[in-house]
Order: sequence, then structure tokens, then C-alpha cells
Amino acid sequence: MKGNIGVTTDNIFPIIKKFLYSDHEIFLRELVSNAVDATQKLKTFSSVGEFKGELGELRVKVSVDKDKGTITISDRGIGMTADDIEKYINQIAFSGAEEFLEKYKNDANAIIGHFGLGFYSSFMVSKEVEIVTLSHKEGAKAVRWTCDGTPEYSLEEVEKADRGTDIILHIDDENKDFLEDGKVNGLLSKYCKFLPVEIAFGKKTEWKDGKNVETDEDNIINDPNPAWVKKPADLKDEDYNKFYHDLYPMAEDPLFHIHLNVDYPFNLTGILYFPKVKSNIELQKNKIQLYCNQVFVTDSVEGIVPEFLTLLHGVIDSPDIPLNVSRSYLQSDSNVKKISSHITKKVSDSLQDIFKKDRADFEDKWDSLKLFIVYGMLTDEKFYDKAEKYMLFKNTDGKYFTLDEYKTLISTEQTDKDGNVIYLYTNDATKQHGYVEAAKAKGYDVLVLDGQLDTHFINTLEQKNEKSRFVRVDADVPEKLIVKTDLSQHNLNAEQQSALTTVFRSQLPTIEKTDFIVSFENVGAEAQPIIITQQEFMRRMKEMAATGGGGMMGFYGEMPDSYNLVVNVAHPLVKKILTDEEAACQAEVSPLVAESVELESKIKSLKDAHKDKKDEEVPQAEKEEISSLESKTGELKTKKETIISGFAAQNKEVRQLIDLALLSNNMLKGEALSNFVKRSIELMK
Ligand code: ADP
Repeated sequence: MKGNIGVTTDNIFPIIKKFLYSDHEIFLRELVSNAVDATQKLKTFSSVGEFKGELGELRVKVSVDKDKGTITISDRGIGMTADDIEKYINQIAFSGAEEFLEKYKNDANAIIGHFGLGFYSSFMVSKEVEIVTLSHKEGAKAVRWTCDGTPEYSLEEVEKADRGTDIILHIDDENKDFLEDGKVNGLLSKYCKFLPVEIAFGKKTEWKDGKNVETDEDNIINDPNPAWVKKPADLKDEDYNKFYHDLYPMAEDPLFHIHLNVDYPFNLTGILYFPKVKSNIELQKNKIQLYCNQVFVTDSVEGIVPEFLTLLHGVIDSPDIPLNVSRSYLQSDSNVKKISSHITKKVSDSLQDIFKKDRADFEDKWDSLKLFIVYGMLTDEKFYDKAEKYMLFKNTDGKYFTLDEYKTLISTEQTDKDGNVIYLYTNDATKQHGYVEAAKAKGYDVLVLDGQLDTHFINTLEQKNEKSRFVRVDADVPEKLIVKTDLSQHNLNAEQQSALTTVFRSQLPTIEKTDFIVSFENVGAEAQPIIITQQEFMRRMKEMAATGGGGMMGFYGEMPDSYNLVVNVAHPLVKKILTDEEAACQAEVSPLVAESVELESKIKSLKDAHKDKKDEEVPQAEKEEISSLESKTGELKTKKETIISGFAAQNKEVRQLIDLALLSNNMLKGEALSNFVKRSIELMK
């Protein structure tokens, strides 16, 4: 018998071939799942007494015949009668087909799902497809259906001894690579690894007389009972770990797992693992595998689980996730939203459980968990609210505290005069050793915040916790990290300040993209004479710019690094430099100062006289006088600075002090470092 397939378009197969180009390989998944479905149905019929025959062996077999150029998928499931074929294979409802195909041409899953095209995907790789099938129904006759990719098919009665269906694909010339065993094997283990019915491909081999030989035993490529479909009560930690390694053979043992099992209001099973996360977020993504009734669908679960959960590993299996739709549709689907928030809640609850039940264990795992939890807190409000209670801080002594515990610990010692609790931190305890020690010597505690996301995290913590500020230990001199009372002022006059500024500024080595501001503090004779600090706000903005964040962030990213060179005027060495400078330069500098004071007052009185006038009302001659006086003071200033710089250049202590300060901030490099070493030896002679 011959007939026409019920497609409204003239010829659907060229369209299938053309549009589904990129995902050709899923044909095998579709055909094997159909075979599995037919087998499962038969089992059900048998268990309810609708099928009374022997079930026998129910393996699905996949085989390749390279000579004939065919792939065959055989099952011993329910089979089809001629009527079934007419109904399920020939009548595919196609309305608005072309329009839809045009829209989803790059998304084979969407097309296949939309049209129930599972079986027809075989035409993506075949020039002809045969179905040879014998229904399980009593007295059924076996039939053979063939179709060469035109809407015309033929259907005839044939002999078939065994119940079930053989789908025989005559692979077309462009797709010969699917006839390679290796290729088929690869596809089966990608898509069919956990199908619920045994899938056989070829025979097992064994090592005999120095070579690999085939045995009689079927080579089963799947595990029909993967861990996630079992009851948690039936599984031990070893079983979970073993399953993890089945999924990721190269990975280290996971930290712990969460077994998901939901029946209502949606169906979801799965096991999620917390991997041992090193540092790079990007590398960790795309590890969760999504299944639908044990059929592999994708390993890109973005849109189905919240962004931060994509760092987890494992499997999610749900028939309730609409798989055959576009990603944007997915995100607005109400089931998907429910699933997503359920998973978040489960993950968060499990973390809280471990934290409550075994704090020591939680602390042990914290360093690996941290990136994940911080990422979650940054991107998911609900998760933040929960995680806030078990998120941990680690201090430089390796002790762990919750947010509340830490606040209690530091609030007495580390509250400033405005009532802000100051959290001191280091992002590199080795590099900032001196600053950490100085802070500790003042009785402060120092946190280690050295993670990839910590700069962003600090900002979030400050926003969420009123009156809390995070300050890096090198953000200021120890005395000013936490300002408790108004500090005693230094007692240098303007002239002395200007002289010392010139002394130090003139001797600073030039460092690329780096600016220094010289400032003066009285931080006591015991503190360092020169201290380099970097203001918290600016530094953090730059760090955020570096780790992404456009707009204003780009602006900060372009700015040079700005440091403070803080001169401790209480230090004897600084005092000595000032005395030496005055002794060496005063004779020359004093007359210059006197002269410029005089000029300044002239300029001032001239300007005062015109205070209330508009610019055009001031006579040109007077304007010129002011500007000539101003350029004279400028000259005087330069002269003065040249004299003082000359002194500073001769003074080995100035350079030495600057270099020591740079050195304790890891900023002394290259030639400047070599010069420092030479000079130090000189000084010891
Ligand atoms: P879907 O599986 O989404 O229903 P398919 O195009 O893959 O769509 O299959 C259409 C129908 O053909 C199936 O629903 C089933 O009734 C029948 N069918 C396909 N393959 C087999 C098989 N191996 N054994 C029995 N029936 C099958």
C-alpha cells in the first residue's frame, strides 16, 4: 500500500534537514527514547494485566552495519499495528509549520518538541527510514513502513518473529560519520547514559591471547538505576561519591551533596554536589546536567537554576521543565520559577543544617564554600537573607566568626567616634604584614578578605549593615584607621610643611600610573617615620572597575593609583631632617620667602581693590601687573624648591626613609630597589 504523510507543507523533510543542521546528532536520542518508552509501556501493560505474554529480555539494541550503511535501533516493547503507524507516524499535525520553523530554525529541540517530531528527526541523517514492527496485541500482523524523505511512504505486511520495533536508518552520504562505532558510542554515552532500560551497543570485549576479542555478552552502555532515582535512605555517602565520579571522572571528591526529591507542585529529582571550588568562577559553570525522565537534555541550565547555583555540579531531572522552548520563554515559565526557588531554598537549608549540626565541619569546608556562598549573597536577595546567618568571616589568626559574632567581638574596640563599627581587613596578609601587625598592636582584629568577589561583597555588606565600614589595614596610618577622638594636630607651620613636602616629593622615584600626596600626621615617636597608605574608597572603586562594572567604574579604572605619603612629624628622624634642612637652606631660602610674602601682599591689595568689579571694568594695565607679580612669585617658588631639592638629594636619610616606606608596601622595584640596596650598604660603612 502507498499513501501520503499528513503534512500540509509539500515536503517537510528538506526543511527538517536544512533547519536542524546544527543538532543532527539528537536523532539517536529521540529514537532510543522512543524505544525505551515502548518498552516501559509494555512493562506497565504487563503489570496491570493488559498484556499477558512473556516479557522476556527487554534490552534496547543499537547496531551499526557499515557495509549496508545502516543504524538499527531495536526494542521488544509494545510494537505497532498498521493502524498505529497510520495514527502515530503518518498523521503529523502541521499547522503554520514553515512560519514556526523559520522562527526557531536554530533550536532543534524547540522544533522537535513542538511538532512531536521525535521520530522524524531520523530524516536529518537518513536517505531512507524503515520501520519493521510487530505489535504486542494478540493476533497482530507485522508490518514494514518505508519512506525516502518525500511525503510518500509505503506500508506492507511482513514476517517478523519477535514482538517490538526495529527502526532502520539508511544513513545518507553527508552523514556517513554516524556509522563510526566511536561516534555512536559517544552519542549514546552523552544522551542515554542513564536511560531506565538497558541499552546494548555491540559486545563486551576481553583480553585474550594478546589481543582484544569480542565476547557473547552485550555491551550495556547505560546505568538504568542512577543514584538520583533511588531513595536517599538507600544510599550511603560512598554511593553519592561514586555517582559523582561517574559524572565527572576527573574531579576531586565533592564537599557534600543535596538529594532533591519533589512530587508537588512539580516533579523534580536530582542530586546536587558542592564541588571543591578553587578560584575561577567561569571554569566552574556548565557542570549541572539536565535530564527529562533520565534522558539527557542539556548541560546548560542557565535560566532554570539561579545564576550562582550553576557553580554546583550534579543532575536535575524533571518532566515539568518545558524543554522544547526558547531560553527566554523558560525564564518566565511559572513552573521553572518555582523549581528555581525551590532549589535555592533546598541548597540554603542544607547549608544551614551543616552549619547547625557540625560547625567544625562547616568551618573546615568554608574556604571552598565561600566563593559559592558569597556569589549567591551578591546575586540573590533571598539567599542573602538566609546565608547572612551562617556566612563566615575568617581572621588573620584563622578563626571563624559569623557576622553577628564578629560584630560583637569588635564593637567595643573598633567603633569610631561617629558610631561606625570598623571592620579592618587585609587582602594579602603576607604583603600587608607590617600594616596587619600595626593594627593588631593597637588591639584590633583583622579579617582576611582575599576572595575573587570580596571587593563587591564588602560593598554589599556595608549597604546591608548600617553603621558598618570596611577599611583595609593599609588605608591609613594605624592611629587613623579607626578615629575614636579628634586627633592631636601636628605643629608644623606652613613654611615647614612646604619645605618638607619638597624634601620628600623631590626624592620619590617615579612609578608608572602612580601618584603620591605628601601629608603630615603626628602619630607618635614610636610609629614609623614615613607610611604609605591608600585611601579605601578610591582603591575599592578601582578594584571594582577592574573586575567588571561599566559606567562610572570605567572612569575610576582609568585614574592613576593615588597613595598618601604620610610624614610622621613626631618621629625623631623626621624632626632631624627638618632641622638639617633649615640649617642648610635657611640662609638662601629666607630672603626668597620674605620677597614672596611681600609680593603676595601686593597682589592681594591689588585684587582687593577690584573685588566688586566685573572683569571688563579692571584696567588692562593693572591686570598685567597682577599677572607679572604672580609669575614672579612662581619663579621664587621654583627657586626655593630647587634649593631645598638640592639639599634633599644630598641627604641619604630622606631617600632611605622613602624607600623603606615603599618597601614595606611592596612598591620598591627595579632600579629603585637596586639603588636602595647600594645606598644601605654605603650607610653601613
Ligand atoms: P513522541 O515520541 O513525542 O510522541 P515521535 O514522533 O517520536 O513522537 O513518535 C510518535 C509516536 O510513534 C509515539 O508516540 C509512539 O506511539 C510511536 N512510536 C515511535 N517509536 C516507537 C517504538 N519504537 N515502538 C512503538 N511505538 C513507537
